[in-house]
Amino acid sequence: MIKLDGIHVSTEIKKQIATEVLALKNNCKKIPHLAAVLVGDDGASETYVNAKVKDCAEVGFQSTLIRLPSTISENELITEINKLNNNDAIDGFIVQLPIPKHINEQIIIKTIAPNKDVDGFHPQSVGKMALNLHTFIPATPLGVLKLIEHYKIETAGKHCVVIGRSHIVGSPMSILMGRNAYPGNCTVTLTHSKTKNLKEICLTADIIIAALGKPEFLTADYVKQGAVVIDVGITRVKSDLTKSGYKLLGDVKYDEVSAKCSYITPVPGGVGPMTRAALLLNTLFAVKK
Ligand code: NAP
Repeated sequence: MIKLDGIHVSTEIKKQIATEVLALKNNCKKIPHLAAVLVGDDGASETYVNAKVKDCAEVGFQSTLIRLPSTISENELITEINKLNNNDAIDGFIVQLPIPKHINEQIIIKTIAPNKDVDGFHPQSVGKMALNLHTFIPATPLGVLKLIEHYKIETAGKHCVVIGRSHIVGSPMSILMGRNAYPGNCTVTLTHSKTKNLKEICLTADIIIAALGKPEFLTADYVKQGAVVIDVGITRVKSDLTKSGYKLLGDVKYDEVSAKCSYITPVPGGVGPMTRAALLLNTLFAVKK
C-alpha cells in the first residue's frame, strides 16, 4: 500500500509556484494577487480564509482579506463583488462559503467575473470544465487530480466510484474522472444518499473517491483488494486523546481499508493540503490567462 502524501506533493507544487513568482518579479511582471471575501464570523470559515492568506504569503502572492458583517444585504455584497471584478490589481477572488442564509449563494457566485473565478464555481467555469476546455477547476477536485498525477496512478478504463454529488466536490470530481484526459478516461459512477446497493457498487470500483462527510463511513467490506481510495472527508470529532480536545476524521476507516488498498490518502495530510495548493494554482492560472 502506498500512502498518497498530500503534504509532500503540495509542498512541491508550492515550491514550483514560488519559483514562477520569483521569475515574474525578476521580469518586472505583475505578482499574482488573490482576494478573499469573508462574510460574518464563522469560526471554521475564518480558519480556512486565514490559511489561504498564509499560503499566498508562502509562495510570494499578494493577498487581501475583505471582512464583511453577517448583516450585509445581498445587494451590498453584490456591490462589493463588482468592485473586485473591476479592480485590475486583483487577479482572482473567492467568496468563502457558506454565506449567511438570507443571501442567495447562486446569485453571488454568478456575480463573480468568470475570469477571476478562482474557486471555479461560476456556471461558465463549470460548463467549460464539462466541455474539457481550459478553465478554473474547483480546488478540491483539482487537488485530487494533481495527487493522482504525481503518483502516476493509472486511470484509463478504470471504474471510478464517487460518493457524494456536491457542487464543490463530488459532482465536478465525477465530470473530471470521466473526461477524455489524464487523469480521467474512467467509467464513472456518481453515487449519493439515494443510491441503492452502494456497497455492491463500491466493491466493483478500481478507484473510490469518498466525499460524503460521514466519518469512517467507508469500511473494508466496501473495498475490493488493490483499489485506490481517495478520502476527501474531513469531520471534526471530539477526542480525549488530543490536546485540542478534537481530532479530524475522514470518510474512510483508514486502518482497515488501507490494508486492502494499492493507494490511499490519509486524513489529515491527504486531500486537505492539496486543496490549498490547488487554489494557488488557480490564482496563477488567472494571471497567465
Ligand atoms: P455535502 O455538500 O454535504 O455533500 C455530501 C454528499 O454526500 C451529498 O451529495 C449526499 O447525498 C452524499 N451522501 C450523504 N450521505 C450519504 C450516504 N450515506 N451514502 C452516499 N452518499 C451520501 O458535502 P461536501 O461539501 O461535498 O463535503 C464532503 C466532505 O468533504 C465533508 O467531510 C467536507 O468537510 C469534506 N471536504 C473536504 C475538503 C478538503 O479540502 N479535504 C474540501 C471540501 C469538502 P445527497 O446529495 O443525496 O444529499
